[in-house]
Amino acid sequence: MKQHPYEKFTYYIYSDVYEEIVTHCMEAKPYEACGFLSGKQGFGEQVWRMTNEALTTHSFEISEQDYQKLKKTVQKRHEQITAIYHSHPTSIPYPSPTDILHAPEYPIAYLIVSLQNETPFLRSFLIMNKVVYELAHQVVKRG
Ligand SMILES: [Zn+2]
Repeated sequence: MKQHPYEKFTYYIYSDVYEEIVTHCMEAKPYEACGFLSGKQGFGEQVWRMTNEALTTHSFEISEQDYQKLKKTVQKRHEQITAIYHSHPTSIPYPSPTDILHAPEYPIAYLIVSLQNETPFLRSFLIMNKVVYELAHQVVKRG
């Protein structure tokens, strides 16, 4: 994969947030789960489960209305939306052509949890101008 401006950047996810994402993804099976993380820049401190409007096993869709509502809530907390996540119930943790096509235009960590194997596997990416870059992430203890 190519170099990108965030090459040296690491996205930090609190361990309880990580657990919550995985739990959400497991509960949504066989459908894809989706949501956002908020916090200070570069951190996933809070999980926001979103409704998958598409409700399929291979794609997800978040309504603009839900997104705008969340944006306001997050702003009130003086946080930023720092990541979007979704699950791949039966496939590898890599953005599908549809994911790439519909990825947010703003820079945000793009997390995918694969449930293909017994142990859930999370990978993080940056998708900019329809190009996928690997993004380093680290699960850390809160506080
Ligand atoms: Zn996907």
